[in-house]
Amino acid sequence: METYAMRINGEDIGKELPPLEVNNPATGEIIATVPHAGANEAKQAVDAASQAFKSWSQYSAYERSEVIRKWHDLINEHKEDLARTMTIEQGKPLKESRGEINYANGFISWYAEEGKRVYGEQIPATQRNKRLFVQKQPVGVVAVITPWNFPAAMITRKVAPALATGCTVVIKPAEQTPITAIKLALLAEEAGIPKGVINVVTGDPKAIGETWLEDERVRKLTFTGSTEVGKLLMKGSADTVKKVSLELGGHAPVIVTNDADLDKAVEGVMGSKFRNAGQTCVCSNRIYVHESIVEPFTDKLVEEVKKLKVGNGLEDGVNIGPLIDEQAVSKVQSHVEDAEQKGAKVFYQGENQDGLFFDPVVVRDTTDDMICMTEETFGPLVPIATFKSEEEAIHRANDSIYGLSAYVFTENITKGITISEHLEYGIVGLNDGLPSTPQAPFGGFKQSGLGREGGHHGIEEYLETKYISVGL
Ligand code: ADP
Repeated sequence: METYAMRINGEDIGKELPPLEVNNPATGEIIATVPHAGANEAKQAVDAASQAFKSWSQYSAYERSEVIRKWHDLINEHKEDLARTMTIEQGKPLKESRGEINYANGFISWYAEEGKRVYGEQIPATQRNKRLFVQKQPVGVVAVITPWNFPAAMITRKVAPALATGCTVVIKPAEQTPITAIKLALLAEEAGIPKGVINVVTGDPKAIGETWLEDERVRKLTFTGSTEVGKLLMKGSADTVKKVSLELGGHAPVIVTNDADLDKAVEGVMGSKFRNAGQTCVCSNRIYVHESIVEPFTDKLVEEVKKLKVGNGLEDGVNIGPLIDEQAVSKVQSHVEDAEQKGAKVFYQGENQDGLFFDPVVVRDTTDDMICMTEETFGPLVPIATFKSEEEAIHRANDSIYGLSAYVFTENITKGITISEHLEYGIVGLNDGLPSTPQAPFGGFKQSGLGREGGHHGIEEYLETKYISVGL
């Protein structure tokens, strides 16, 4: 078992603090400890970030780009170690962990370049003797609070654009997955990112969160996690009027129309449903299939689902690792039971339900009153419902407080675009089960969040606009 320290101001901090145990969800084994830190260390991290901001913000965009790029290259060199670390602390299959490191690193290389394109403006003045300039500046110290489902990507997606603009960060990774975060910070230091620019604090979420919310030096909060905690943090940001970006829960609908290519639709649903054992906020959560094709669609889907291998993510050929904890297992189980009680048919259910492993379940004839059709399941359950008209499907898909991602499968381009435009969702995958990529904006409508991550939209979240009016 290893003991990790936090990284604050380029130093190992907190080894004397009580330990916070990190488990391997596949085996239940305690694999490491990190410090169980609180308010003091959270403040210490802001002191460091605030000090570092003075010089980091003065680097030229090109100087920052160069060191950020080195961070990217070091992550590439250490990909295998980072991927194994991730699988051991989070559970996802090694192949997916490698994919996540590539995806996470994609944000770093993309923003290393995008930082060079933070342009200002000159606006024509009314008077001859005036010049009006607009300049973009980094917001300052950014608090980054991330979840366990993407231990690397949720960090780099926030930290890369923040650093590229000249901001400095204090990161609180999820209790379940702090080691990937600490390793990323160590590689950043090795790359030459100055001390204090990236600080990682592990431990008590509430104490750390409150300290950062109260500290007026923290000018921006960026959070990915549950809608419940997101609302709390948004309220807490009001007292110091912080900028806020939130990426919260989803409840993604999939609409499969009567002219869909069934192979494409099944492939799309398989990709979006089972990644990370169904534990992503963009996982398809409810499938609406036109009544005329529900039989062949379900048969084809079940054929594919049967091929999925559930097990320890370190083993070859495993497609689905364990769920993150007992609570996650009970939640999926309760969604299945509720659907069954309310009249749904369990069409397919695997047999391995040991420990935190949960074999995929396919449920047919679901109705809108079932929990799986109104709440995010965050697990490998596929509920299938039927619809008669596209208007009905759009209405049912939009009938939710969430609006993160939605999927449409159709071979009719007019129908595809029309349905996509009517969906109240921030991301639509049209014949595409995996739309997310570093150069495109990711984020939700309604209670799924605020702001966007990725693309040129994502860098705006870390910038202040300054207007300079010059009298000649
Ligand atoms: P999940 O259900 O995915 O675990 P959470 O919203 O509980 O989602 O957790 C996401 C992140 O928010 C984690 O890093 C967690 O420690 C942190 N968190 C949870 N509660 C609070 C809080 N009260 N203040 C600040 N951060 C919190």
